[in-house]
Amino acid sequence: ASRFDGIAMAPPDPILGVSEAFKADTNALKLNLGVGAYRTEELQPYVLDVVKKAENLMLERGENKEVIHVFERVDDLKLFLNYLPIEGLAAFNKVTAELLFGADNPVIKEQKVATVQGLSGTGSLRLAAALIERYFPGAKVLISSPTWGNHKNIFNDARVPWSEYRYYDPKTVGLDFEGMIADIKAAPEGSFVLLHGCAHNPTGIDPTPEQWEKIADVIQEKNHIPFFDVAYQGFASGSLDADAASVRSFAARGMELFVAQSYSKNLGLYAERIGAMNVVCTSADAAARVKSQLKRLARPMYSNPPIHGARIVANVVGDPVLFNEWKAEMELMAGRIKNVRQKLYDSLCAKDKSGKDWSFILKQIGMFSFTGLNEAQSDKMTNKWHVYMTKDGRISLAGLSLAKCEYLADAIIDSFH
Ligand code: PMP
Repeated sequence: ASRFDGIAMAPPDPILGVSEAFKADTNALKLNLGVGAYRTEELQPYVLDVVKKAENLMLERGENKEVIHVFERVDDLKLFLNYLPIEGLAAFNKVTAELLFGADNPVIKEQKVATVQGLSGTGSLRLAAALIERYFPGAKVLISSPTWGNHKNIFNDARVPWSEYRYYDPKTVGLDFEGMIADIKAAPEGSFVLLHGCAHNPTGIDPTPEQWEKIADVIQEKNHIPFFDVAYQGFASGSLDADAASVRSFAARGMELFVAQSYSKNLGLYAERIGAMNVVCTSADAAARVKSQLKRLARPMYSNPPIHGARIVANVVGDPVLFNEWKAEMELMAGRIKNVRQKLYDSLCAKDKSGKDWSFILKQIGMFSFTGLNEAQSDKMTNKWHVYMTKDGRISLAGLSLAKCEYLADAIIDSFH
């Protein structure tokens, strides 16, 4: 007998478990459309050129794994302090907030944003959840139905109550805007409303600019706090500004808001775990207080964040030449995904004799497509066709090549029947 007998085997993660099943499949036709990671047309992982250049710069400068702190008031005393401060790399925090809001945004100029470096998008969300749990006891987080699978885990583990608002309408494979507005209205005053800044995961369906304004209206009416999850800035449309438009329009109203950021997709820094948590306040004083509490929450969880990814981002976003090169590479990645989306749509239309309207695929944006396949049909995709995907019918177009579109179209049409 062991004292661990009471610990049952945990189920595999519904998203990350897909890759494990994929690895075990020996069929040559197999296709991994489960995890949302960018692949080249040859279906290989891709390290951005600007990331390599930033890393070369770091090598040339002979940067060590510690951090130099300059204390200006003590005769410019330089000290090696081993670790980053709890809030992360200052140069990173500066550029990441500027990238999100725009450098000349009044919220930046007036120092109303509390920014701390986080352990990518997930860790930033988790830190914010801890802040909600501590300072807004009982407040509920409203999340879209459906949403990225990890959102529920994050709020559950932080002991933050959540409920869902309607988002996806299976009849139109589009947005249930009326339902969304009604549910946000019906929530208790002062709730947090989790919104995907762009390229909604898993549906690929975003509100229009006019719909965003109406969403902001009800949130203000109900005194809710918007909480944006921005995991795809620049990666969805190819434009950093267009993908941040929703967040910026809320900020322009003078609203207090939360924004979690991730560099996993747009800079391809997945395993570096680099992102940030931003809280927009109504004064610099409030921002300083919020930041101090975010640091206090982070300290016993992980002490301080890792430096490598933060330096890469600071070098790329903070350097005008690399920044422009990054934008070009992002357009390339977003463009490849759009081409694959178009080819998949064309293949489905050409092969499907049932008269089904596939145009919903072209209306979705970002790396995912929500196919409308149910769980049994998604299982058929995997078991019969060796196409690995999540059971909610989501496929990652970033893991698809033009060459495989026809095969995938055959699999989808067959699995629908
Ligand atoms: N939010 C959403 C909506 C996502 O799709 C993802 C990535 N799958 C994340 C957050 C977090 O990813 P990461 O922790 O790698 O930044």
